Amino acid sequence: MIPVTKPFLPAEKEFKGYVKTIWERQWLTNNGPLVNALELKLKEYLGIDHLLYVTNGTIALQLAIKALGLTGEVITTPFSFVATTSSIVWQGCEPVFVDIDAGTFNIDPAKIEAAITAKTTAILATHVFGNPCDIDAIKKIADRHNLKVIYDAAHCFGVRYKNKSIFEYGDISITSFHATKLFHTIEGGGVFTKQPELLKKMAIMRNFGYSGVDTFSDQGINAKNCELHAAMGLCNLNHVDEILRQRKKLYSHYLYRLGKLDVQFQKLENAEDYNYAYFPVVFKTEELMKESKEKLELAQIYCRRYFYPSLSALPYVNNSTMPVCDSIASRILCLPLYHTLATSDLDLIARLLLRVQNFDENDKLKATHFGELITGQIESELKKQPLNIN
Ligand SMILES: *Cc1c(COP(=O)(O)O)cnc(C)c1O
Repeated sequence: MIPVTKPFLPAEKEFKGYVKTIWERQWLTNNGPLVNALELKLKEYLGIDHLLYVTNGTIALQLAIKALGLTGEVITTPFSFVATTSSIVWQGCEPVFVDIDAGTFNIDPAKIEAAITAKTTAILATHVFGNPCDIDAIKKIADRHNLKVIYDAAHCFGVRYKNKSIFEYGDISITSFHATKLFHTIEGGGVFTKQPELLKKMAIMRNFGYSGVDTFSDQGINAKNCELHAAMGLCNLNHVDEILRQRKKLYSHYLYRLGKLDVQFQKLENAEDYNYAYFPVVFKTEELMKESKEKLELAQIYCRRYFYPSLSALPYVNNSTMPVCDSIASRILCLPLYHTLATSDLDLIARLLLRVQNFDENDKLKATHFGELITGQIESELKKQPLNIN
């Protein structure tokens, strides 16, 4: 069986080393030493000055919306995980959807201004599958209309944009450290901001609103995380470079093997600082996508329709048709991608997909804008093992 993803697990011994220290200290949660150590190491690793480690990515979104005091309408993307939209509604704001770009799958900045009204207070955009949004264009629009910007960077661990961690952009960025993400703490998340007052506010909000012993300066919630989760993060951080390397290799391998398949790949705007968190392919038609999915399932290979359906179709929002998003969402599949995926399994997936489309040997490699990823080394390695699809 090949699942769409598998969580990374460090050696049991490595984790137990940290657990032993928790038992010795008997300090389980409330800003413990492992939580502090993880925050420090994450800052070092990501090259950033500030972050708050929190319960999960969804609470991180809610904290961000609350700390910015957003009200009224929030412009957002219909192509994301449900938490992006549900957090807006949960905080009492109204999501206003703006369609996505057909190539990058991110919110289309050219369509944002038409959606701004007197009630708009912010833009909440997702860097879809870790592919950076057009951050400069979004910032210009936000500045012109005095709007706040939040980035849902749940897929973005390790992604850099213009030589900085992508978490440094927007008034606030959030991420998820859930077990299915490339770096995880089983459950967990982070909020990031470069504004000291906002950081302080969220730090207080994370801990019930306490600003000192027996003093509360603000409303708060319990968004703290615990020593056991931090221990998993400290272990996994030791392996994250290897995980990133391995994913890049598998991603390039997919591109090479599927280069001739009649599908659309995600357009990556700055591929060299990308993290290869997902491998989405968009088929020509929904039928072809379904047929491909079924063929793979017969071989016990499980893909995921991700993201599907469009968030603009949720039962608790004002439904709107989003032609580009609806079309992409109906035809997209994320193929299996995780650090221990065997290249022989990847070859099998490629073979099955190519067979569905009566692949023609003479077709040219279509994935031309990925030239820099299919390095000479990978190409010569793979040429030695031709893919026999029959
Ligand atoms: C995973 C994810 C979230 C939610 O994070 P949790 O840690 O699972 O709460 C939010 N947005 C996106 C885009 C995600 O993929």
